[in-house]
Amino acid sequence: AREAALSASTGPGTTSDGHAVPLLANIGGPKDLESALAHGAEGVGLFRTEFLFLDRADAPSEEEQEAAYRAVFDAFPGGRVVVRTLDAGADKPLAFLPPSGEEPNPALGERGLRMFRKYPEMMESQLGALARAAAGTAALPYVMAPMVATVEEASWFVSACHDAGLDTAGIMIEIPSAALRAHQLATVVDFFSIGTNDLTQYALAADRQVSGVADLQDPWHPAVLDLIALAADGAAGAGKSCGVCGEAGADPVLACVLVGLGVTSLSMGSPALPWVRAALGRHTLEQCRTAAVAARGALSASTAKDAARAELPGLA
Ligand code: PEP
Ligand code: MG
Repeated sequence: AREAALSASTGPGTTSDGHAVPLLANIGGPKDLESALAHGAEGVGLFRTEFLFLDRADAPSEEEQEAAYRAVFDAFPGGRVVVRTLDAGADKPLAFLPPSGEEPNPALGERGLRMFRKYPEMMESQLGALARAAAGTAALPYVMAPMVATVEEASWFVSACHDAGLDTAGIMIEIPSAALRAHQLATVVDFFSIGTNDLTQYALAADRQVSGVADLQDPWHPAVLDLIALAADGAAGAGKSCGVCGEAGADPVLACVLVGLGVTSLSMGSPALPWVRAALGRHTLEQCRTAAVAARGALSASTAKDAARAELPGLA
C-alpha cells in the first residue's frame, strides 16, 4: 500500500479539490539536483548557498558561484528557483573571514543578512554572480535573504538586488519580529519563505543546537502556528506568496496544516516530497483549514498534532 501510494504521488502538488501547492526542494548545491528531480520537485524553494562557502580556506570566486547558480537554474526551466544568500555566522563559521570574536549566543549574533552589513562587498559579489547566472535563464530566479528582523533590512536587501539587476527579491520569515510585522514587510518584498527551524528556535527561546531543550524545538507549538498564520495573512494582504522552507513542511500532517494556515508553497528535503504530495492529495483545502484551526486551538504541541490528525482522515 505504501508503494502504491507513492507511485500515485506524482505531478504537481495539489489538494484533492485542486488547490495548487507547489512542492519544491531544499538543496545545498548542484549535487542535490538529481534527487530533487527524481522526487518530482517542481523547482527549488531553498538553495542554501552557504554550502558553497563552508569548509574551505578561500571564498568561492564569482565565476565558481555563477557556475553553481547556473547549474541549478538550468535544472528547472519554467520552475521557480529560490536562492538564499549566504547564511553564515558564528554558528556556521567561514574560514576566510577575520574572526569576529567569540559570540556568547551565536544564534543571536552576526549571522545571515547581518553579516553583509559588515561585509557589503560580499553581498555585492554574490548578487552579481547570481544576476549573471540568472540572465537568460529559463527558470524563474528568486533571491532571498536569511535572518531579516526589520523593514529597514528588507528594504536594504531589495534595493541591493535591484541594483544588481535581480527583479524578484524576498525574505525569510524566521525571526518573530518579522512574522509580527509581516503586513508591513510584505509591502516592500516580492515574497516570503518561512524558516520554521529558526522561527521555532526564536519563538520558544530554545537553541537548535542544545539537545536539552529539543522538546521546545517543535514547530507544532501553537505559538509557532500563530506566527506562521500572521506571516501568511500579511503576505496575502499584499498579494504576495508565502512558502515554508523549514523542516515543518516535510511532516505530511503539518504540511496540510501549513496549507490550511495560508502557506502557498512547501519546500523540503527531496525524499519527503512524495509523502507530502500524497497527504495533500487526500484532503481538501477546507479540511486543511479546519485542521489548522483545531491545531491553533490546542494547548500544547502534542495536542495540536492530535487535533490536526483528527481532521485529516486520509492520513490514517
Ligand atoms: C529555517 O530556519 O527553517 C531554515 C529553512 O533555514 P536553516 O535551517 O538553513 O537555518
Ligand atoms: Mg534559518
